[in-house]
Amino acid sequence: MPAKKVCIVGSGNWGSAIAKIVGHNAKGSNRFDPIVNMWVFEEMIDGKKLTEIINTEHENVKYLPGHKLPKNVVAVPEITEAVKGASVLIFVIPHQFIGRLCDQMKPHITQGTIGISLIKGIDEGPEGLKLISDIIREKLEIEVSVLMGANIANEVADEKFCETTIGAKNEANGHIFKELLQTPNFRITVVQESDTVELCGALKNIVAVGAGFCDGLGFGDNTKAASCGVADLITTCYGGRNRKVAEAFAKTSKSIEELEAEMLNGQKLQGPQTSAEVFKILKKRDMINKFPLFASVYQICFEGKAVQEFITCLQNHPEHM
Ligand code: NAD
Ligand code: 13P
Ligand code: CA
Repeated sequence: MPAKKVCIVGSGNWGSAIAKIVGHNAKGSNRFDPIVNMWVFEEMIDGKKLTEIINTEHENVKYLPGHKLPKNVVAVPEITEAVKGASVLIFVIPHQFIGRLCDQMKPHITQGTIGISLIKGIDEGPEGLKLISDIIREKLEIEVSVLMGANIANEVADEKFCETTIGAKNEANGHIFKELLQTPNFRITVVQESDTVELCGALKNIVAVGAGFCDGLGFGDNTKAASCGVADLITTCYGGRNRKVAEAFAKTSKSIEELEAEMLNGQKLQGPQTSAEVFKILKKRDMINKFPLFASVYQICFEGKAVQEFITCLQNHPEHM
């Protein structure tokens, strides 16, 4: 079997952290080609191209400053060039960009290519909710696994211990990705319930926005925990970007968009946008009243509902009536 060539599609905060792992593991394994391409959405940093900075300094100075990437990770600005010859694709970009990117990749995908999505988000489909992995499956006609967990990128890059889950309908693919992505401090469980793994990863971002509202409004830990959940949900409600920006939103009169630009230096929030997709789906199905947290996060972020009303929405949860 020839060594599999890996391409990381994306190079933001999480993409760069995962590149550290993938670069290291690809170099140390016979199964993978040691050269790993990383597609980078090109931008200029102080008059220099980000791809050139990455390829000379081996650091993504904008999205993961302070961490060296392995030298065998090569930044490529053209997506068509980046995926050439690759049979293993790792998708890790903000979910709003996935459709267009897949369209550009399609002519260069070879038979037998497999993918894994690290993207937390959902889209609206004709019959309701559509998974990001389904967009990739449909557009590229490849098998797609997912990887989701309580994995704040900077902590993973710092090699602080954490766990994560690969959802793979095809178990053999799941184990290929485990070999590529696991480290002593990034422990992977492979399960077959891929859709569930993906959905939890996507929806927790909306809850994180709600948690940020609670913090910004000065409520206590009990309030925040009213939306209790498991690992990723807990992490995101304490350490994540969605929570942080939502807290600032509740404390200032600025819009989510303004705060995202001001506070995140180009990184992207997935929670507000996911709440918008979910709201459209709930509305179509006449189910808004059943999901007051999801609905109120959307209305506060996009429809001018006062953030002070967030708790009122939860007080009127149908479960409590
Ligand atoms: P990010 O939030 O750092 O986003 C910035 C990236 O988006 C940059 O690479 C930028 O070049 C790119 N970008 C900007 N405009 C673009 C465009 N028009 N087209 C394509 N790309 C564009 O990205 P991230 O943190 O790597 O997040 C990617 C996915 O991983 C998201 O779904 C996120 O929810 C998920 N995730 C993130 C973390 C984390 O801690 N950062 C952890 C787990 C999962
Ligand atoms: P944020 O995007 O809110 O930072 O969450 C990152 C994440 O998904 C941690 O698992
Ligand atoms: Ca499905």
